[in-house]
Amino acid sequence: MTSKSPVWHPFTQHAIAPEAIAVARASGAYLETIDGRLILDAISSWWVVTHGHCHPRIVAAVKEQAERLDQVIFAGFTHEPAERLAEALVALTPEPLTRVFYSDSGSTAVEVALKMALGYWRNIGSPRPHIVALEHAYHGDTIGTMSAGARGVFNAAYEPLLFDVKRLPFPEEGREQATLDAFEAVCRAGGVAALIVEPLVLGAGGMLMWPAATLAQLRRICDQYDVLLIADEVMTGWGRTGTLFACEQAGIVPDILCLAKGITGGHLPLAATLCAERIFDAHYSMDRSKTFYHSSSYTANPIACTAAVANIEVWREEAVLARVQALCEMQEQHVARLSANTVFRNARRTGTIAAIDVDVDDQGYLAQIGPALYEELIARGVLLRPLGNTVYVMPPYCITSDQLDVLYAALVNGVERVLAGVRS
Ligand SMILES: *Cc1c(COP(=O)(O)O)cnc(C)c1O
Repeated sequence: MTSKSPVWHPFTQHAIAPEAIAVARASGAYLETIDGRLILDAISSWWVVTHGHCHPRIVAAVKEQAERLDQVIFAGFTHEPAERLAEALVALTPEPLTRVFYSDSGSTAVEVALKMALGYWRNIGSPRPHIVALEHAYHGDTIGTMSAGARGVFNAAYEPLLFDVKRLPFPEEGREQATLDAFEAVCRAGGVAALIVEPLVLGAGGMLMWPAATLAQLRRICDQYDVLLIADEVMTGWGRTGTLFACEQAGIVPDILCLAKGITGGHLPLAATLCAERIFDAHYSMDRSKTFYHSSSYTANPIACTAAVANIEVWREEAVLARVQALCEMQEQHVARLSANTVFRNARRTGTIAAIDVDVDDQGYLAQIGPALYEELIARGVLLRPLGNTVYVMPPYCITSDQLDVLYAALVNGVERVLAGVRS
């Protein structure tokens, strides 16, 4: 099917993908197509929309800011939205996270984190070359973040450009000690600049969940060997795992924290990399060669910062955590129901995120069932985007109990229908 549109869509095989669905507007948990169809957005439009689409408070703040200051160079200049947001972010996160570096996507937030880590060791006069990451990790789609992420079908073509990282086995249930032992061995060998992890849930790697206690142990090993810990909370941040940030559940603080996706409530692209004072200090010098050399044109765009400030006001004033807790409980009940269904395996939940694996032989990201199920569910008015044979539900927090019931009924019926087709 050759579309007339010149648009090349992300993660889309245009030769076989259905025509892109044109969306005219969105509100709450729903998208509305140009022909008036409603689609329940069960994946928060790729994990970014937290409260719901077009939250009135964020919309109003954006409108007002757009008329006042659109964009300004951020080297040598500053503005109130960026200052207010940085103060709010530092207030929301524990010591020693005291400095905020802006960029515009999750990938750039992680690139900045990796550069800060290497810059830190170099600037204090003991360069360290190695980054350590988890098996099945996903940290973005730029060359650096792909390098930190798992290798596979997504990046096979770019392999010649990817740098090596030390890889730890994923802390599977009952095998957490193997991860800790591997990390300790790597640290003992020396030269480790930083460990980067997605706390509690590996998102794009298949919604793989791991315990807070293991994260706390990894932090302890980082302390022991003076290795920096980078928490990539691009997906897990802003309530997804049941707390504002996933690290809170382990009672730990990373040295570098990457935030994006939900930072504006999902309204505008923005990212922030927070770091400990000692990392800023290492770059603070009369020697200009120790400058942190990173920028993007739209760094700290005032309208995006305003959306993020409004998002934090929503968090403060609307009892969002209570809403998140209620969603966690509803998700738990659905997960319990799914575990009793024999077509599913490994029903699991961390915070507001629920996931199951469909029991098929064909597994992995390219599993046939993924696209088939996607289309079946879209026809039923539900947007879910399986990762291979893994189906996950990550809705905006405004979703109601009735809407969730509709969603899970569609999921179960859809899977049964597709399995009948696949098997016949
Ligand atoms: C989505 C994601 C990224 C990349 O964010 P973009 O805004 O898509 O560049 C990085 N890390 C994690 C954990 C993510 O889920």
